[in-house]
Amino acid sequence: MIHGSCCCEAIKFTLSAKPKFLGICHCSRCRKLGTSEFFMVEKSSLEWVSGKERVMEYVPEEPYKYKRCFCGKCGSSLGEILSKDDEFPIAANTLDSDPGIDVWFHEHVASKPSWQLTHEDVKLFEGDPHE
Ligand SMILES: [Zn+2]
Ligand SMILES: [Zn+2]
Repeated sequence: MIHGSCCCEAIKFTLSAKPKFLGICHCSRCRKLGTSEFFMVEKSSLEWVSGKERVMEYVPEEPYKYKRCFCGKCGSSLGEILSKDDEFPIAANTLDSDPGIDVWFHEHVASKPSWQLTHEDVKLFEGDPHE
């Protein structure tokens, strides 16, 4: 069982399965939102323990489409934890322990500032891997 929480611990959840992968996005939006490192999790593996009602959602204006969640009390970024998709990214910082997953790729590397580093032997995408 993998445990996740926000900084103030108002929000707690568990994952019954390991995340599918760990990705790192270097786009300016993920950097601002604190979700550059994200785990892709299956919705079916997520169980709420407490604080779901405290999760706030930032709905971006077009052309941006991803709703980003955060704790309404402490502001910790939670990624897309309220997504209705079968799988979605959550901010890696929410997990309380290391699930032991290697970084799978870096994306939006073209937007990467010099102070963000990339891993060796990991696939680098200049932009979005799906485009
Ligand atoms: Zn919190
Ligand atoms: Zn991004």
